[in-house]
Amino acid sequence: MSNIETIVIVGAGQAGASAILELRGNKYEGNIILIGDELHLPYERPPLSKDVILKPEETKVEILSEEKLATLGVAHIRGNGVVKINPEAKTVELQKGDVIAYDKLLLATGGAARRLPNFDALGQHVYTLRNLEDSQALVPVLQAGQRIVLIGGGVIGLELASSARFKDCQVTVIEMGPMVMGRSSPQILSEFLLAQQRQAGVDVRLNTQISTCRLDGEDVVITLADGEELHADAVIYGIGIVPNARLAVDAGLAVDFAIQVNENCQTSHPDIYAAGDVATQLRADGHYRRVETWENANLQAGIFARHVMGVEHPKPNPEWFWTDQLDINYQFVGDMQAVEWHVRGEMDATLGSACSCVLFGVTNGIIVGGITINAAKEIRHLKKLIAKNAAFEAEQHLDQGLDLRKIA
Ligand code: FAD
Ligand code: NAP
Repeated sequence: MSNIETIVIVGAGQAGASAILELRGNKYEGNIILIGDELHLPYERPPLSKDVILKPEETKVEILSEEKLATLGVAHIRGNGVVKINPEAKTVELQKGDVIAYDKLLLATGGAARRLPNFDALGQHVYTLRNLEDSQALVPVLQAGQRIVLIGGGVIGLELASSARFKDCQVTVIEMGPMVMGRSSPQILSEFLLAQQRQAGVDVRLNTQISTCRLDGEDVVITLADGEELHADAVIYGIGIVPNARLAVDAGLAVDFAIQVNENCQTSHPDIYAAGDVATQLRADGHYRRVETWENANLQAGIFARHVMGVEHPKPNPEWFWTDQLDINYQFVGDMQAVEWHVRGEMDATLGSACSCVLFGVTNGIIVGGITINAAKEIRHLKKLIAKNAAFEAEQHLDQGLDLRKIA
């Protein structure tokens, strides 16, 4: 039994919803107040770049229904975000003026698309993708024959390129850096992704800078640094996110771009926690690191819930995330900065080759990372090998005749 009367969760997204399940799962019986600035029930974002665009009618994104929230005894305030925290009084103030008291507070406010003001200034035909409305707005835009320019060759750029090609759009991706998905994948996989996108007809431009943009009638005209002009019916940019950390800054919490939290997801104020995309967590190596994935939002929500309930949390699994592009499922686990990568199976980048393989990331002889390409069932074996710091043994690990389950 906990003597905490009221827990307030700010942000009704992945971490916020997950925190509710974790609190009740850990026998918290007090009040939970979930405060969201969106009008929706808590929903998940991974389908927003994929199925919401491709199959809008049949795709469900809701994490917790109204009935489920009622069963869990959660008061859900929607469309009325928090505008201020008063840590001394232990209250939050909402946009519409209400003041709500808490004993423990979780900030699960996620992030917002990093802006390109010169594109925003065009006022039309320019889009970003973070929430459900953004995704729904893209459905009529991504129509056959439309010329779509995607700025940023990260996960959003590549997933949207894939969705746009499925809808027969003409697609160009402009990436400033030398690699696609350079922040989250090693060179070997980045090259595979690039080959896939190019074979699917996506015009991917690497190392490409934009000089200016303007409207010409209904066209957006983008001038590249080398003078080339691209004409687009629509521009969608995905150039990373900015954590929604304003509330924490104003409340005097320690913030370094994101909200700093310790191993228990506690901020610099012991009654205030943060989880998900908005949080940067102190790691065993003494550095803070932020992870922008679905799994991390759930994991940190669990750490928060167990900490307030005084329950020890288990050692987390190696970090994991996935992406779906051009009908291929990719899963990533552990350290993507591994020094060497070894392929089990054939990494055939020919589009439609039904490639299925596993990559081992190795540093100093130890398996530290892993990737599966259309081989999702192998990911848990990779997780196991990474978690136990297994030594990489090429004859064993790369032999497809041996079952990974048996050698993990
Ligand atoms: P969010 O889920 O963004 O929730 C934050 C919520 O807080 C939002 O509803 C926001 O409006 C609200 N909020 C903000 N400020 C306030 C305030 N002041 N008061 C009240 N509410 C507030 N990850 C993967 O691992 N795999 C994927 O395939 C994948 N696909 C993705 C596709 C897209 C298009 C996007 C955008 C993300 C994807 N992700 C994926 C990342 C994953 O969805 C995020 O890491 C995850 O949603 C983070 O959860 P969160 O709770 O921190 O933030
Ligand atoms: P991202 O993955 O960080 O990628 C942004 C990319 O844009 C980077 O390659 C970046 O290059 C490039 N870039 C930055 N400024 C640019 C500019 N001015 N012109 C051209 N390119 C530029 O971010 P994202 O794709 O926008 O995704 C946003 C959020 O959604 C992230 O939190 C992400 O995790 C989440 N998301 C996740 C998934 C998934 O996990 N499957 C899917 C969709 C979205 P540099 O690295 O060189 O700066």
